[in-house]
Amino acid sequence: MNVGANTVVSFDYVLCDSDGRELDSSRETGPLAYLHGAGGIIPGLADAMTGRASGERFSVVVQPEQAYGLSDPKMIAALPRERFSGTDTIAVGMQFHAQTTEGHARVVRVVAVDDRTVTIDANHPLAGQSLSFDITVVDVREATASEIEHGHPHGQHCEHHDKGGCGRQHQHGCG
Ligand code: ZN
Repeated sequence: MNVGANTVVSFDYVLCDSDGRELDSSRETGPLAYLHGAGGIIPGLADAMTGRASGERFSVVVQPEQAYGLSDPKMIAALPRERFSGTDTIAVGMQFHAQTTEGHARVVRVVAVDDRTVTIDANHPLAGQSLSFDITVVDVREATASEIEHGHPHGQHCEHHDKGGCGRQHQHGCG
C-alpha cells in the first residue's frame, strides 16, 4: 500500500545538514514510525512521503519553513552571568532546561559566553536549517481506529499501551 491519509509509515533515515554533515539517523534506534497526516513528522518530509510504497528509497531537501522554522531573534537573549551562579562552568553548546513566562519547559542552548553575559538561544537546534534526508520506506500499513483517535502509531513494545493507559494528550516515544 502507499503512504496516504490514515496510514502508519515506518522508515529509516539519515539526516544531514546543508554541508553534508550527518545530524541524526535511525541506524541505532531502528525505523521511526508515524501516523501520516497527524503531524508527527516535519511537514516537508510528510509531503515527500505521500504516495510512497514500502521499499522505496528517496532523498529530499526540506527548507527551514517546512522543517523546524526560521531562527527567531526574539528567542535569543543575553543574560547577566550572575543568573548562572549555581553552575561552575558555562560553555558554548551547554543546554539548560528553562521555563518560559507561560510556564512551558524548553531547552535553551548557550551560544556565547563572556565575563559578564551568557547568551542563550531557545530556538529549536535545527531552526533555520535546510535538512537533507535519505529515506528508506520500511513499511506502510493501515492505521487502527485507536491510532487514528490518538493521532500516533502504537507499537508492540509500548509499556504505556500494554497497561492500557494511553491518554489522548500523552506523547510517547514508543511505537
Ligand atoms: Zn496512544
